[in-house]
Amino acid sequence: MRVGLGYDSHRFVADRPLILAGQRIPHPLGLAGHSDADAVAHAVIDALLGATGLGDIGTLFPDTDPAWKDADSMELLRQVGARLSAGGWRPRQIDVTVVLEAPKLGPAKPAMAAALARALGLDADAVGVKAKTNEGMGFIGRGEGIAVLAVATVDRT
Ligand code: MG
Repeated sequence: MRVGLGYDSHRFVADRPLILAGQRIPHPLGLAGHSDADAVAHAVIDALLGATGLGDIGTLFPDTDPAWKDADSMELLRQVGARLSAGGWRPRQIDVTVVLEAPKLGPAKPAMAAALARALGLDADAVGVKAKTNEGMGFIGRGEGIAVLAVATVDRT
């Protein structure tokens, strides 16, 4: 059994959709990024890669590569799942904390968790998605962006 930790943060900008775990979340601002800026997918990818020693998201999908411009990050997550399989690894459980001041993610959390579970072939109860504010502190508190922490456990197939 291995454990990996992933972290990601993205800045809020106008004229971009807010996409988290592949779900379009109603909000006046979206996240800046080369891909679709899905910080949840990115943190989960890094947790899985970290657990298995397979590198990191920036190495696998560099933001200098036009191939990943506006990329669907849940597709990248599925590709990482396939890499794990090819390396003899199987994701067992994912836990995610999204830290953001707004919007409230309550209504979206079940769909986010279900989408992550689907992408990795996990049971629904093997994925946790939680959301917290930063109590008004720092860049998150000022609404400048969001941060995501993810933990993944994997074992050998
Ligand atoms: Mg990212």
